[in-house]
Amino acid sequence: MAPMSPQPSRQLAIVTCMDCRIDLAAALGLKLGEAHVIRNAGGAVTDDVIRSLAISQRKLGTREVFLIHHTKCGMQTITEDGFRAELHDDTGMSPPWAVESFEDADEDVRQSIRRVQSSPFLPHRDAVRGFVYDVDTAELREVQ
Ligand code: ZN
Repeated sequence: MAPMSPQPSRQLAIVTCMDCRIDLAAALGLKLGEAHVIRNAGGAVTDDVIRSLAISQRKLGTREVFLIHHTKCGMQTITEDGFRAELHDDTGMSPPWAVESFEDADEDVRQSIRRVQSSPFLPHRDAVRGFVYDVDTAELREVQ
């Protein structure tokens, strides 16, 4: 097998939810070596995601960002205050991070796009696209 480049051949970085129902490879026809995939609960654009995108763009040649949320996300079933209170009740401490729960997937995708587009650490902010993946049909719909 020929050595594979660490630079994604599609020059693409994808931020999506950790949900186990998302078949990213099938939805995007994604093959090994083609894209960076950054996942967390909700596919939230946190400071740590910006950190990964900065490395991805500045050191590994990606130029395009896809932000993919999905239907029936667990982050729609909790609230910022509720989950913070749950953690505080259990541990006596409030987390230093935001929970990043949301109600409307489309609106949260738009907020994620704005966060990427407003980050001074990212040199490529003109090709940022947002999608919602349907976990029942495996369809990917672009958010306008
Ligand atoms: Zn999710």
